[in-house]
Amino acid sequence: MLVQIGKCRLQLVQGDITQQQVDAVVNAANAQLAGGGGVDGAIHRAGGPDIMRDTDARYPDGCFPGEAVASVAGLLPAAHLIHTVGPVWRGGRDGEPAALASCYRKSLQLTVDLGCKSVAFPAISTGVYGYPLDLAANVALKSVIDFLKWHKQPDDVRFILFGEGAFGAFARSLEIQVA
Ligand code: ADP
Repeated sequence: MLVQIGKCRLQLVQGDITQQQVDAVVNAANAQLAGGGGVDGAIHRAGGPDIMRDTDARYPDGCFPGEAVASVAGLLPAAHLIHTVGPVWRGGRDGEPAALASCYRKSLQLTVDLGCKSVAFPAISTGVYGYPLDLAANVALKSVIDFLKWHKQPDDVRFILFGEGAFGAFARSLEIQVA
């Protein structure tokens, strides 16, 4: 599914983010930037040890929830890797929507600062961190659409959704938000 936001393209793709040829890939990291399961594990496996070497050297204190930092992308077919730490879902009244929106905004800002024209996002916080998919889709898409309307870049933003459930939730939300 593809929509145009001004001159920018916003795309939903069902697939594996480690296979995406883009200028920047975004990782749903943990606060220690220590690697882990889910998409984080897949990215470190595919990208190799250079990624951890770089984050250990540059961000020994890790990264706060809602923030984003950049590293090398190692063997991934991307120029940069952006690590952002999503909120853990605690029922929705603990600032989760604002923290999740901040992840997308800060990652997009870094993407632009690094001169990247294309970026691929996973559905941050919707795995181990337990953020309900439909609610996460609303927040993710709204923050990306708002950023693109305001900043008019990057040219190409993709959500790479792992499985039909995630793809369906994002597609329903996008249909409503661009109607
Ligand atoms: P979090 O800790 O932020 O919840 P997870 O990695 O557990 O992060 O899950 C985030 C999302 O990434 C989930 O929707 C999960 O299905 C998805 N995911 C897992 N592996 C991949 C992959 N290789 N490519 C894209 N998305 C993935």
